[in-house]
Amino acid sequence: MESNIKLITDDGLRLDGRALNEMRPIKIQTGVVEKADGSAYIEWGANKIIAAVYVREAYPKHAQNIDRAIVKARYNMSGYSVEERKRPGPDRRTMEISKVITEALESTIVLEKLPRAEVDVFIQVLEADAGTRIASLTTASVAVADAGVPMRDLVVGCTAGKADGKMVLDLSKDEDNFGEADIPMAILPRTKKIVLLQLDGKVSQEEFDEATSMMMNAIPRISEIQRNALMSKYNVEEGE
Ligand code: ADP
Repeated sequence: MESNIKLITDDGLRLDGRALNEMRPIKIQTGVVEKADGSAYIEWGANKIIAAVYVREAYPKHAQNIDRAIVKARYNMSGYSVEERKRPGPDRRTMEISKVITEALESTIVLEKLPRAEVDVFIQVLEADAGTRIASLTTASVAVADAGVPMRDLVVGCTAGKADGKMVLDLSKDEDNFGEADIPMAILPRTKKIVLLQLDGKVSQEEFDEATSMMMNAIPRISEIQRNALMSKYNVEEGE
């Protein structure tokens, strides 16, 4: 969306003071939903999201897959998660985000290790501030690992985009609303396989390459935060 809002200041910084290739702070904590098999909470900038995972026999029985698990991710934005009025219940955006997150998780879960099972991933956005789909996927993949589900790798999400003609990492809400392009991406870091890639807006080939290289540079840092979250829970339990 074109606009008259200046997103990059004269000193080359963004409205929230970040450099063009600077992420917002990220914190992840596991084991936040006691009843769930696995769970994780993420704060990514002002986004606050919980993911809870249940692994159970798929129901009804005729929906079971005899040689592999079914994955169902459900993304839901709380009515209080955004300032603007949000209509309650599922809409097209919610369905689309649930679908892309499900597909990304399917590509890393070793489905054939869990025949007849259903891996239910409930994602609740408590506060939304741009980039919720990739923050949801990043925390959902930690919750799936926390549930002990066999995975090839943790999925790491990130966004980049274009604001005031410049490529920027990890779009803020203003950049998402008034910038020229938004590119969410998620990969499996070990193999660098891309499991989610969307583009909203217009960019040139060079700009797209710059966006993906910014994201590729950020991914090891996010991956480390995920691993630390899983490890710290393990350490606490060990000491108990
Ligand atoms: P993402 O959250 O993955 O960036 P979008 O680009 O669709 O997905 O949304 C950008 C941001 O716009 C969201 O993070 C949220 O802050 C806000 N938003 C999305 N949908 C709504 C809605 N229905 N009502 C109010 N704000 C919304």
